[in-house]
Amino acid sequence: MIGSFVYEQLPGRIIFGPGTLRELQEEAARLGAARALVVSTPGHRQFAEEAARLLGARAGGIYAQAVMHVPVETSRAACNEARRLGADCVVAIGGGSTIGLAKAIALETALPILAVPTTYSGSEMTPIYGLTEGGRKRTGRDLRVLPKTVIYDPVLTLDLPPHVTGPSGMNAIAHCVEGLYSQQANPMTSLMAAEGIRALSKSLVTCVHDPQDLTARTEALYGAWVAGAVLGTVRTALHHKLCHVLGGSFNLPHAETHTIILPHVVAYNAAAAPDAMRAIAAALPIRDPAGVPGALYDLAVSLGARVALRDIGLSESDLDRAADIACASLYPNPRPVERPAMRELLDQAFRGVRPAHGPWCPL
Ligand code: NAD
Repeated sequence: MIGSFVYEQLPGRIIFGPGTLRELQEEAARLGAARALVVSTPGHRQFAEEAARLLGARAGGIYAQAVMHVPVETSRAACNEARRLGADCVVAIGGGSTIGLAKAIALETALPILAVPTTYSGSEMTPIYGLTEGGRKRTGRDLRVLPKTVIYDPVLTLDLPPHVTGPSGMNAIAHCVEGLYSQQANPMTSLMAAEGIRALSKSLVTCVHDPQDLTARTEALYGAWVAGAVLGTVRTALHHKLCHVLGGSFNLPHAETHTIILPHVVAYNAAAAPDAMRAIAAALPIRDPAGVPGALYDLAVSLGARVALRDIGLSESDLDRAADIACASLYPNPRPVERPAMRELLDQAFRGVRPAHGPWCPL
């Protein structure tokens, strides 16, 4: 049954397909760019150089200093470089860290962003930015940081290593899962979320075991696009909050934290979100919606991803503080967030326990 809903569609132009990076100059021209600043991480400067080559006379310079979580110092230095060069556009080529730096520049300068994502994080489809100052990451929403154009070229993901591919794909699946039980969920975002889970769960195992398989890479990047579109449109819940706490306060790696936490949050929320569980089960696909948390855990294992917080740098002595921070503020979630249950959830994720097939789940 369709109820009442509000769906706020975001603007943006999407160019999708193998080889589409060659359209970069034409797309930059559409944005009126004559002096684009190309940003990347130091490790993938070759991406930025290739982008600058394709931009030709429309390239203003390269800033290859993007790092995880966008420190304000990096953002300030990048803005100064953009001003010094007289840049009129930012071309971001890389993962969420690179796109995050482009967003920080756009927030300060209002320059348009043309994004070329090379992971599955989905940041390119959202108006969400993050900046880290004094060890604290603050996030916000601002339409200025939403890329005007996104070029999805799966060829750029062929060299994404398996240990990045698996968690990055699980990060995208997490956007879809929380989209399905979000307070802002609506028929359009739910369709996209189910399609994202279907495409990603079907293609990721091949991407990990045969990274050069362009068909699987194309389907995974397509799934990442719709997952990002969901994240950009609806507000998320406990899962994203918890990952934000763990990443920001304990410096845990972003995509791996999502991979580990997701099955446990889904187990926590399952009984309060039965329609979402049915949609996820159909998309994975598995027969029994009560088996969704275990199936997500099994998917992570089959991708070779780590499944225990203790294996990615969290200490057992951090669990109490993590539970405290996660419960310190109120946010929407299908099931109320209570401290004892949260502490138990974190303990299970710390030890990497496979979530049980919940007999308590009224499905
Ligand atoms: P990332 O950008 O740090 O990239 C992960 C790793 O993959 C890095 O080592 C990078 O060098 C490597 N890499 C990237 N592309 C590659 C390629 N094509 N081939 C080989 N290696 C490649 O990680 P991420 O998970 O994409 O992004 C994480 C960041 O993005 C976090 O800071 C997170 O908060 C942010 N994020 C923001 C949003 C949003 O909506 N604002 C959404 C998702 C993630």
